Amino acid sequence: MADVIISVENLTRKYGDLVAVDGISFSVVRGSTFAFLGPNGAGKSTTISCLTTLAPFEGKIEIAGRKVGRDDEEIDAEIGVVFQQSLLDPTLTVFDILQTRAKFYGIKRPEARAKIDKMADLIEIREILGRRYGSLSGGQQRRVDIARALIHNPKILFLDEPTTGLDPQGRQLVWETVALLQKELGLTVFLTTHYMEETERANQVYIIDHGHIIAHGTPHRLRAKYANNQLRLQPKDQTLPARLDKMGIKYDVKDDILAIDIETPENALELLDQVRGLISDFEFVHGNMDDVFLKLTGKDLREGKR
Ligand code: ADP
Repeated sequence: MADVIISVENLTRKYGDLVAVDGISFSVVRGSTFAFLGPNGAGKSTTISCLTTLAPFEGKIEIAGRKVGRDDEEIDAEIGVVFQQSLLDPTLTVFDILQTRAKFYGIKRPEARAKIDKMADLIEIREILGRRYGSLSGGQQRRVDIARALIHNPKILFLDEPTTGLDPQGRQLVWETVALLQKELGLTVFLTTHYMEETERANQVYIIDHGHIIAHGTPHRLRAKYANNQLRLQPKDQTLPARLDKMGIKYDVKDDILAIDIETPENALELLDQVRGLISDFEFVHGNMDDVFLKLTGKDLREGKR
C-alpha cells in the first residue's frame, strides 16, 4: 500500500450560501508532487486553507497521521506554506526574513544560522542573502518564500499558485527549486496552478471546477484519456480533401492545413502512407493538458480567456 501523507475525505467549505468546495476526497503519497488544477474561483485556495489548518471545514483531513482541527499544532510543525501573495516586508534583507522566521519557530541563533547557510546553498540564494526583499525579481522572491517556508524542516510544502505572475524565467527558477527540494529532502509537494503545462511535472493531477473534482490521474493517463493527438497535413494536391472524404476521415481545415484527430502515432503513419503523394508537409502534435481541460469542461483555462 502506498504511503499516504495527506488524506482528505468529503471536504466541504461554504461561505454563506456559496459552496466553494463540495465534498471532495483525495490522498497524497509521501514524497510525491500533487497538483490541484483549476480556473480562478474553482476552490483551490480554499482547499489549501483547510489543509493548512487556517479555515474551518466539514469532512475529515489527516496530515502525517494527525487530524486537522484537533492536532493543528503538530500539523503546523509538519507543513510549510507559500501563499499566492507574499506579505513580507520589502525593506528587510533576505537574511533577516529567514532569521525572523527561525525565531518564530523557536530555533536558536546558531542553529538558525546553520540552517540558513544550508538553505542558501540548496535553494541558491546565497548571493542575495544581503539584498532587500523588495529589490528582488519575482522568481528570486518566490525562492526566498520557499526557503522561509522550509526553515523548520517540514515534510510537506504547500504552494498556492507559486508561479502566477512570474515571467518564464522566474517560473523555470521556481520549478527547478521544487524539483531539487524533492530530490534532496524527499519533500511532499502540494501545489495549485492554473497553468496546464505545469501539471506535466506532477505525479498526480486533480482537476477541480466549481468546487468539484472532475477528473484525476497521472498527467500521462489524463492526456491519453481526454486529449487527442493531431495529424496536420499540408496538401500538395487539391485532391487530398476528396481522398480523405473517401476514406471516411474527418478533418478541420485551417489556413490550408487539414487537421485530423488521431489516436496513435502508428495510426498517423498508416494514414501518411496512404496520402504521401498528396501532401507537401505534415506535423504530428501530441495532445496536452490544455486539451484535457477543454475536453472536460468545454472551457479554455489559459489566462485571459476566462
Ligand atoms: P481558486 O483558488 O481556485 O481561485 P478560491 O478557493 O479562492 O478559488 O474560491 C472559491 C470560491 O469561493 C469562489 O467562488 C470565491 O469567490 C469564493 N470565496 C473565496 N474566498 C471567499 C471568502 N473569504 N468569502 C466568500 N467567498 C469566498
